[in-house]
Amino acid sequence: MQRSVYVQTFGCQMNTYDTERMLQLLRPEGYEPTNDASSADLILLNSCTVRDKAEQKLMSHLGTFTPLKEHNPDLVIGVAGCVAQQEGERLLKKVKGLDLVFGPDNVDSLPELLRRVRERGERVSETELHKKREGYQFIAGEPSPDQGPTAMVTVMKGCNKNCAFCIVPQVRGRELSKPADEVVAEVRRFVESGVREVMLLGQNVNSYGHDRADGVLFADLLDRVDAVPGLERMRFTTSHPWDCTDALIERFGRLRTLCEYFHLPVQSGSDRILELMRRGYTAAEYTERADRIRAQAPDLHLSTDVIVGFPGETEADFQETLALIDRVQFDLIYGFKYSPRPGTKAAQYEDDVPEEVKVERLARVFERGEAIRRPRLATYTGETMEVLVEAPAKSSKANDQQLTGRSRHNIVVNIKVGNAALALFRWRGKLAQVRITKAFAHSLLGEFVTVD
Ligand code: SAH
Repeated sequence: MQRSVYVQTFGCQMNTYDTERMLQLLRPEGYEPTNDASSADLILLNSCTVRDKAEQKLMSHLGTFTPLKEHNPDLVIGVAGCVAQQEGERLLKKVKGLDLVFGPDNVDSLPELLRRVRERGERVSETELHKKREGYQFIAGEPSPDQGPTAMVTVMKGCNKNCAFCIVPQVRGRELSKPADEVVAEVRRFVESGVREVMLLGQNVNSYGHDRADGVLFADLLDRVDAVPGLERMRFTTSHPWDCTDALIERFGRLRTLCEYFHLPVQSGSDRILELMRRGYTAAEYTERADRIRAQAPDLHLSTDVIVGFPGETEADFQETLALIDRVQFDLIYGFKYSPRPGTKAAQYEDDVPEEVKVERLARVFERGEAIRRPRLATYTGETMEVLVEAPAKSSKANDQQLTGRSRHNIVVNIKVGNAALALFRWRGKLAQVRITKAFAHSLLGEFVTVD
């Protein structure tokens, strides 16, 4: 029976990856993806709970989808991801019209859970975390029918850190690394199907392999993936400074495919706040690591995450964060206002930084970030750089057609073309040389050096 599934994904790349696996498992069950929720037979919301705003978004979307059942009584609505993991049964009680709740560790059971809903009329909640290595089988990623030139490959799940603000360890469980052979086999399959770039994924990839006995750690894994014939680019996310080893840093600028881009969340520049956050490093230790990375690969772009308004953060603490930003000269900053998450250590502290102060501090973080990023991007004007061409640009208009791709430093580069459809046919998945003609705040504009 032909059915359609509409999926909305919130949050991080791990969720995007899980969504791909859901679609992969649903295809043999007769479900094809659709962009139209109103005509779908199955609606899945893959949720995020890392900040309270993300969770609120889920609730408001659920509110718009459940009334669709009035016209389509066979419609099944499910919530996956981290809110599902956190709330479980409670979510079924809270939301009338919701049929299915399942956590990140239960994606592989989706076809069976759906059968329980459809055939037995049950409302199902499945949120058991796999705690043991025995019996845990990663779902091997397969290229999708509309797979572009980039692919994500999970290398591990879970996180063993206990950062005071973070809910991830609760909803994603303990670290489990995927055997290196499986990672390499998966990358090979993607490359054989035309993929040129892989993103290795995990909540804290730097600690890859510590839970295994085969001695293959993250830097070794990079060596092995780098050796896959036909692979052009490799990235990874996300990292914790504590596990950012010399062995890893030394791979930058040496492994052919390892791109000059590193996302290394710092969170704060105040040692007092870093300690309250239980991050396990000082501002000076972070800076020293950043210096080593830059010394190893001078052209590398370093990005980071910053939380403002953590409990107890004073203006003086915040000034230290600004000072660290200036010192490290991040190429890109993702900034967040602190929000307490249930069950975390920090949720026991008073959330005492007023909302308006958080807003104002966040604006100052972004202002500093822009002040560094703009001139840095401007230096690329007139230069030629390698871009992996991915898709039509979102900003593409009939009279101004553009394709989009990324440089090795992960900068979005839009490329002016005569006819986007024709150019996409010729260039999608190619590594093109692009001359940059204009720099914006967050992207570059250029033209193919070879005429299309
Ligand atoms: N594993 C990453 C974190 C991934 S979550 C790490 O170790 O840093 C992505 C980002 O969300 C975090 O880096 C942090 O900046 C932000 N974040 C996490 N919990 C938050 C909270 N309770 N309030 C505000 N921001 C938060």
